[in-house]
Amino acid sequence: KGPDPDLVGIVERMATVKHKILVLSGKGGVGKSTFSAQLSFALAEMDCQVGLLDIDICGPSIPKMLGLEGQDIHQSNLGWSPVYVESNLGVMSIGFMLPNPDDAVIWRGPRKNGLIKQFLKDVDWGEIDYLVVDAPPGTSDEHISIVQYLQATGIDGAIIVTTPQQVSLIDVRKEINFCKKVGVPILGVVENMSGLRQSLSDFRFVKPGDAGETDATEWALNYIKERAPELLTMVACSEVFDSSKGGAEKMCNEMGVPFLGKVPMDPQLCKAAEEGRSCFVDQKCSASAPALKSIVKKL
Ligand code: ADP
Repeated sequence: KGPDPDLVGIVERMATVKHKILVLSGKGGVGKSTFSAQLSFALAEMDCQVGLLDIDICGPSIPKMLGLEGQDIHQSNLGWSPVYVESNLGVMSIGFMLPNPDDAVIWRGPRKNGLIKQFLKDVDWGEIDYLVVDAPPGTSDEHISIVQYLQATGIDGAIIVTTPQQVSLIDVRKEINFCKKVGVPILGVVENMSGLRQSLSDFRFVKPGDAGETDATEWALNYIKERAPELLTMVACSEVFDSSKGGAEKMCNEMGVPFLGKVPMDPQLCKAAEEGRSCFVDQKCSASAPALKSIVKKL
């Protein structure tokens, strides 16, 4: 049996991609796609040429998070052209191929693997510094295929995103063990939604009562402004999830993998993701953007 022609095609295509980073999570909803999107924005703002590949085939949220909903992929004689956010940030997702964003993608393993293979073989990224691959949660067929294909072309490693609670960390341990087993280097673990950080002026204040809550935001903010205005320049922090057992950092120490840092829960980051914006361009995400930036600098 000769070499797998698909694999040969992938290796050829990936020859123009300098670094490949896989973004993984044990569970869904922990902020993996948000991290992949903001990592790509950050690298692009550092003047790197970046490609973002979304292989979360059943739940592609990358088009929305990059502000590219409703866009189509074009084909040229060089292959499928990514959809560009900026001239140095191209995106590819199955989300661009679905006629209706509400359509469910109900595919079995082999078909998903086929598409992943095609994404790696046929997308014309051009010469790029980074390919960020947003994987589905867990460790399924898709993971085994993507790892197998990327390993053939050289992969820098995986970043694993988690939240601080034990229920999420248990699954991250599995993800770490998966990487160790298949030989993918772990660049590190990111603890996302690590406490809530929000400026007081973004809070809504309510007065609980027997007949329900009444809004007291205006009153509360005026009260603070008159008596302690410096409070309005501070950030209120709250441990939303239980991290009393040490969270991701302790787990990383136990498992001998790098800990990349914590990103707090920041309503402004959620808003930026919903609106498909970078969190780095203005000061709105002041609670989360610096943390994300420092993680990117460690890579
Ligand atoms: P996953 O890819 O792990 O399923 P998503 O990236 O889709 O998770 O994130 C789930 C939701 O949580 C999204 O609405 C996203 O905007 C929001 N989110 C993610 N990280 C944060 C954060 N640090 N602060 C606030 N909201 C966040």
